[in-house]
Amino acid sequence: MDFQSVLDEIYEQVKQSENRGTVASYIPELGKVDPSKFGIYLLDHDKKGYEAGDANERFSIQSISKVLALSQAFGLEGPDIWKRVDVEPSGDPFNFLSLLELEKGIPRNPLINAGALVICDILISHLKDPKQDFLNYVRSLANDDSIDYDEKVAQSEKKTGFRNVAAANLLKSFGNIHNDVSDVLDFYFYQCSLSMSCKQLANTFFFFANRGKCIRGHEFLNLSQIKRINAIMLSCGFYDEAGEFAFRVGLPGKSGVGGGIVAVHPEKYCIVTWAPGLNAKGNSAMGMQALEQFTSRTGLSIF
Ligand code: GLN
Repeated sequence: MDFQSVLDEIYEQVKQSENRGTVASYIPELGKVDPSKFGIYLLDHDKKGYEAGDANERFSIQSISKVLALSQAFGLEGPDIWKRVDVEPSGDPFNFLSLLELEKGIPRNPLINAGALVICDILISHLKDPKQDFLNYVRSLANDDSIDYDEKVAQSEKKTGFRNVAAANLLKSFGNIHNDVSDVLDFYFYQCSLSMSCKQLANTFFFFANRGKCIRGHEFLNLSQIKRINAIMLSCGFYDEAGEFAFRVGLPGKSGVGGGIVAVHPEKYCIVTWAPGLNAKGNSAMGMQALEQFTSRTGLSIF
């Protein structure tokens, strides 16, 4: 299949889209991003890359980082992780705080904010220097030491992330945060501020399409662990739009409010899009269109 022509056609068509969404501004620093940016990167199973548009420009990966934190925590803690966070789709927005759901202090899944905060807590318990050790983990997955946090974005969210402060305190009150709440929040904001390009993200997420082995061939998770995280991405990766994403695109994936989307076809490819305008559910409007077109034109969805 001529992937390059497919990407070029999709890029040209989606670039003209009238349905471009709105750039997130609740984290003030994110509101400064140029809404006309648009990039696509595809990494196939033979590690051959194809790109279109702004595929090499770095952006704030935000909630996409939750999958990487989950991977590291799962690798370190093993199945005990599921005692502290459930694996059910929430049907709610990413920052939703349902007191009933949290009655026992167990978040619905690790990809909503409450669940990601518990994962941060687990990592803090395991790592000597959580921010640096997590960054090293991502760099090692991507085989790229230039990946870094965006200090401005981290500070910007730290000043305005009141809903996350509430979630962390609520979880702490139920005993599901073991470390200092402020340390957990600080680590969470930095994790979300990771700045990466579509290409870097595709390299990083390649192991989900490659039975747990990264682009250097080093095994980070086993096949069973990869199955579980891909399943969580499919059912929970897009919050209250997870059903719509599975219906339209048909791949496990994860979005972030920076406008990035990563999607994976096990044993076939990893594809990443970036377009900062978000739809009403907080997922990249043009990214969804591009991915829907990709799996429709190529027939390469998991279904
Ligand atoms: N850091 C963001 C937040 O907690 C992540 C949200 C997202 O990307 N969906 O609000």
